[in-house]
Amino acid sequence: MSQVVDLAQPGADESIEADVVIVGSGAGGAAAARTLASRGLAVVILEAGKFLGRNDYAGSVLVRSAAIYASLGLQYTVGNASIFLPTGEAVGGTTTINAGTCLRTPPWILRHWREEQGLDFGPQDLDPYFERVESWLEVGVPDAKLLGVPATVIAQGAERVGIAHGPLMRNAPGCDGQAACCFGCPTGAKRSADIAMIPAALQSGAMLFTHARVHEVRTEGRETVVHARSAEGRSVSVRARSLVMAAGALRTPSLLRAAGLRHPMLGRQLTIHPAVGALGVFPFHVGMDACVPQGYGLEGLRQQGLLFETAGLPFEVTAISLHAIGPRYVEWLEQYPHMLAFGFNVRDTSRGRVLGHVRGLPLVRYDVGAADMTQFSFGLRVLFDVLFQGGAHTVLPGIYGMDEVAARQGSRILDARSLAASDLDLSAYHPMGTARMGVDPATSVVDEVGRVRGAKEWVVCDGSVVPSSIGANP
Ligand SMILES: Cc1cc2nc3c(=O)[nH]c(=O)nc-3n(C[C@H](O)[C@H](O)[C@H](O)COP(=O)(O)OP(=O)(O)OC[C@H]3O[C@@H](n4cnc5c(N)ncnc54)[C@H](O)[C@@H]3O)c2cc1C
Repeated sequence: MSQVVDLAQPGADESIEADVVIVGSGAGGAAAARTLASRGLAVVILEAGKFLGRNDYAGSVLVRSAAIYASLGLQYTVGNASIFLPTGEAVGGTTTINAGTCLRTPPWILRHWREEQGLDFGPQDLDPYFERVESWLEVGVPDAKLLGVPATVIAQGAERVGIAHGPLMRNAPGCDGQAACCFGCPTGAKRSADIAMIPAALQSGAMLFTHARVHEVRTEGRETVVHARSAEGRSVSVRARSLVMAAGALRTPSLLRAAGLRHPMLGRQLTIHPAVGALGVFPFHVGMDACVPQGYGLEGLRQQGLLFETAGLPFEVTAISLHAIGPRYVEWLEQYPHMLAFGFNVRDTSRGRVLGHVRGLPLVRYDVGAADMTQFSFGLRVLFDVLFQGGAHTVLPGIYGMDEVAARQGSRILDARSLAASDLDLSAYHPMGTARMGVDPATSVVDEVGRVRGAKEWVVCDGSVVPSSIGANP
């Protein structure tokens, strides 16, 4: 049998034994696979998506999205605002569509986890792990030449407003600045998990099944049996001593529930870092599609829970994001070369819940709370100020009913408007916490090393275990 089996291809159903079966090949699953396979364990990875290569990442980004985003990229929350909450479905998981920013968990968050969750690990305990993963991902400061005009204008704006700023560490050595990270890196420079971890796991002997959507997990005696199937109906059954669940914070809870796990916190405590952005329009060429897209940010407000980052929206995405119609829409679209997308996410205190799944779509309830709305109000003022001070003549904010704001109006325009969550064009990219880690069995689904309470040989290794919102790209 080949080491990579595509269940979408014709063939017999498979049945296999292993030491460890891993569900999902994203940031968590791939890291577990690489580590465990290198220690000589027989590892089988089951991934619902396909194995895409750089040659698959050509053509329109919207067509590419349909291939690599889960549920065609149409995942939204329900609640007091409908929030776009995409995840990836491919070998490499969401890392195939992420922007490549690599930040360590801040020390103030580790302190919070110690005080609130009793998790007694500090930077000195985690540093060796961060160093190992950063070496796999080849994390470094982006090439200044590729940061382009976006970094220059944000640096100028932040300087004038008086907020510390700087380039964001990322995992794409050799990046040539096509600003397409979130639609599959067309050059393979971004070291997503399918590049930085899965090949190494395969080299150490791991097996990978693609188009293998897990639909059943059960225990038989001391072993775990996992069944996966492709849309074409071909299946694989894996019998293993241990299970690593790594289907991501939106899908791990339902799989564990279906496996019989009953814990009151399973699926709850969801944090997402809700985000809002704006397009700044400048009187000069910006070229956000020809630079590192998420290359520059504001350092100064991170401890306060606001993380500002530039974004390079491709033309097609800008076209479907503009809040304008008719001739005005065309006028703004013609300004695309002069535009820069800039936004921020909030270290949320609101908590959501994965209620279940409807035809493969996670049903997520999330209400933006008052404290987070206060953060949004403050953050939007900073967003406007930095863009205007950076030279923008107009800001097109992600606020419904406030389609464009001129420099002479400035952020003062926000004083006249009290904002509700549903007034904001919100999105979120960091689901976490739905099987959270802690020392108290009553409030945490997994213990301090990720073992599922009540199932000693099951470990969760994905965004689900993050104990609370971290205010940094996870
Ligand atoms: C547009 C975007 C930009 C982002 N940018 C950044 C960034 O710059 N920096 C950063 O740190 N983070 C970023 N993130 C977030 C980051 O990529 C995720 O936090 C991270 O990938 C989560 O890892 P995970 O292991 O929890 O899940 P994932 O990486 O999502 O992996 C889960 C895997 O499980 C598979 N799976 C799910 N269900 C099943 C099933 N039933 N059977 C088999 N397989 C299954 C999925 O297909 C997927 O491959 C971004 C996210 C998005 C959407």
